[in-house]
Amino acid sequence: MSKKTPTSTDLIHHPYEAPPGFQSVMPGVHKASTVIFKDTAALRARQWKDKTGYTYGLHGTPTTFILEERLAELEGGLQTALAPSGLSAISLVDMALLKSGDEVLIPDNAYGPNKDFASAELAAWGITHQFYDPLRADLLPALITERTKLIWLEAAGSVTLEFPDLLGLLRVVRQHSYIKVALDNTWGAGLAFSAFELDPGDGLPKGVDISVHALTKYPSGGADVLMGSVVTRDEALHLLIKLTHMRLGLGVGGNDAEAVLRGLPSLALRYNAHDDATRQIAQWLIQRREFAKVLHPALPDSPGHAYWKETCVAAGGLVSVVFDERFSVAQIDAFVDALKLFKIGYSWGGPMSLAVPYKLSHMRALGSSIKGNLVRFAIGLERVEDLIADLDQALASLSAG
Ligand SMILES: *Cc1c(COP(=O)(O)O)cnc(C)c1O
Repeated sequence: MSKKTPTSTDLIHHPYEAPPGFQSVMPGVHKASTVIFKDTAALRARQWKDKTGYTYGLHGTPTTFILEERLAELEGGLQTALAPSGLSAISLVDMALLKSGDEVLIPDNAYGPNKDFASAELAAWGITHQFYDPLRADLLPALITERTKLIWLEAAGSVTLEFPDLLGLLRVVRQHSYIKVALDNTWGAGLAFSAFELDPGDGLPKGVDISVHALTKYPSGGADVLMGSVVTRDEALHLLIKLTHMRLGLGVGGNDAEAVLRGLPSLALRYNAHDDATRQIAQWLIQRREFAKVLHPALPDSPGHAYWKETCVAAGGLVSVVFDERFSVAQIDAFVDALKLFKIGYSWGGPMSLAVPYKLSHMRALGSSIKGNLVRFAIGLERVEDLIADLDQALASLSAG
């Protein structure tokens, strides 16, 4: 009896095809570096810039195309480029839009690595930046010159959660048609407000030009994937970004795209649950005597609350507290260490609640009305009573100590 030993050729050229007539709730996971062309004519006619065909894994697969379409729909845009992290989506926008001699304006409370990219990388390429106060649209005109080619918006501000004067800022920038407006929309997730519909009035163009989203956070929802998106609704702008995307060689894997696709159907449910729980916890936190300030855009005392009210229907899952100055950094760290359900770690949007202590004095170039030692909480999907009990017991250890 001899059994035919399969050769490596047989093992590679197996007769696999997706079964016709098969349908499922979730799209298939296609993984490809190589994409196979039918013949040389198809290869020579390849066109990667639009979605009429598949050319190479970096330029997309059926799985990433579906994710791109869904994200464009979520954000109210038309086109999407996917990047391997939220931060690489931010740097992609900078690299696509800025040249030596240009200047970019960044809110002083932006996601820190966005500011670092400008200070370190962009500066080295002769691209300058200025940080601006996102609550003071009246101060913005003085910063704008003919070199200003891009302005970043971010709502709410990173860590301190001030809500920017989005409409006021747009009213200023839209006076200058050569300035592109990019929003870091990670907190709003396409659900708290509609980035492309923000209406500055006065007959000015509506919305931002670019919405960037760290899919790592709410869309994935699992605390287990890194990915970012750049959504536009202008074909020429998308192509500009897509060409830079191609030259940088940015791509995402099929399994990661699937993980985000899997999160999207429950995104709104989860976002609302994070939002509800966070509002309840914020209400509990403002009763406590340990804090000088509770920062959450839906609280009337939180900076930019009026701007939040003007544009938003939800408030996300983040809340920060500034400790009363009688508490030392060591005491605050002990409080964070005493938390049991809240784990210590970066990022947010996943099922588990997280706490991170920050020292504000290192973070703001322009200074801030919010001073002192802060802890940011990302509220997960645990029962609210359990989270409050956890905060309560950790605060008890603070006063005992
Ligand atoms: C997390 C985050 C990013 C970066 O996302 P990564 O996927 O971690 O690189 C960008 N902007 C904001 C506002 C974020 O919270």
